[in-house]
Amino acid sequence: MDLIEVERMRVATTRGDLALAPGEAVLGGGTWLFSEPQPGLTGLVDLIGLDWEPVTAHPDGRLEVAATCTLAQLRETAGGFGVAQDLVAASVDALLGSWKIHRIATVGGNICLALPAGPMTSLASGLGATAVIWTPDGGERRVPVAELVTGVRTTSLAPGEVLRAVEFPAPPEWAAYRRASLAPLGRSGVFVVARRDDDGFALAVTAATPRPRVLAFAGIPTAAELTSELDTIEGWYDDPHGAPDWREALTRRFAEELRQEAEA
Ligand SMILES: Cc1cc2nc3c(=O)[nH]c(=O)nc-3n(C[C@H](O)[C@H](O)[C@H](O)COP(=O)(O)OP(=O)(O)OC[C@H]3O[C@@H](n4cnc5c(N)ncnc54)[C@H](O)[C@@H]3O)c2cc1C
Repeated sequence: MDLIEVERMRVATTRGDLALAPGEAVLGGGTWLFSEPQPGLTGLVDLIGLDWEPVTAHPDGRLEVAATCTLAQLRETAGGFGVAQDLVAASVDALLGSWKIHRIATVGGNICLALPAGPMTSLASGLGATAVIWTPDGGERRVPVAELVTGVRTTSLAPGEVLRAVEFPAPPEWAAYRRASLAPLGRSGVFVVARRDDDGFALAVTAATPRPRVLAFAGIPTAAELTSELDTIEGWYDDPHGAPDWREALTRRFAEELRQEAEA
């Protein structure tokens, strides 16, 4: 759709170009920005001119995914995620747009939009990824992606901050997921990702809650320990993609299935 209040569009080619004027926002793929009216938005700063490498593999196994990496590019490099490669493909597919949307929508745009059903938030929270954030003073700060998204359409990004990359630790020894939606091609109502690595067992609950909830254990928990941590989750999400009691019941079922799988 036409954004009738936008008067200026800039393509950033250096970090200095990311100094945002009042009314400006950064443009990832634009699949959301151009999908609905944006009152008060008077300028766009396109990140594409920064030409960031979509995915960089580090010798220690970490993967740095640029905020501008498209979902299609992420899927092409899924092999680098080791045992989590099926999860990467499933996360891309969970954004139920056509291949045209997958070629344009970015990992950073998906996370910064902060929808509960943001599949890149599910993936990054599930694998314990860190958001690398450029601050307006020229610095950088890091925060777990699970903490960057603070609620429905809210993040901990301060004005002028830009998500530069999402850094995934070396692949875990085991990872698995469960996802459910009300319709076969519906938006995620529940997306639970579990992993087992040197730190123990972690379960990330997304889509069912307004913000990611990560339950971490030193080892594989007992069913009772898992239940008791799940009991701490309050405020199950309620929207046309699923009622809160349905989301809670499925999350509990999926969590126990994943716990048993990790134990096997
Ligand atoms: C058919 C269809 C289906 C969709 N299904 C889903 C779905 O299931 N789940 C879902 O979550 N979304 C869905 N969307 C919404 C949207 O397309 C996706 O969330 C997409 O990943 C957004 O990425 P983008 O790069 O296009 O973001 P943009 O539209 O470019 O930006 C989104 C927001 O993030 C900000 N932003 C972008 N990049 C950065 C950055 N690096 N740093 C700071 N801020 C930034 C922008 O300023 C803007 O506020 C769907 C859209 C369509 C058209």
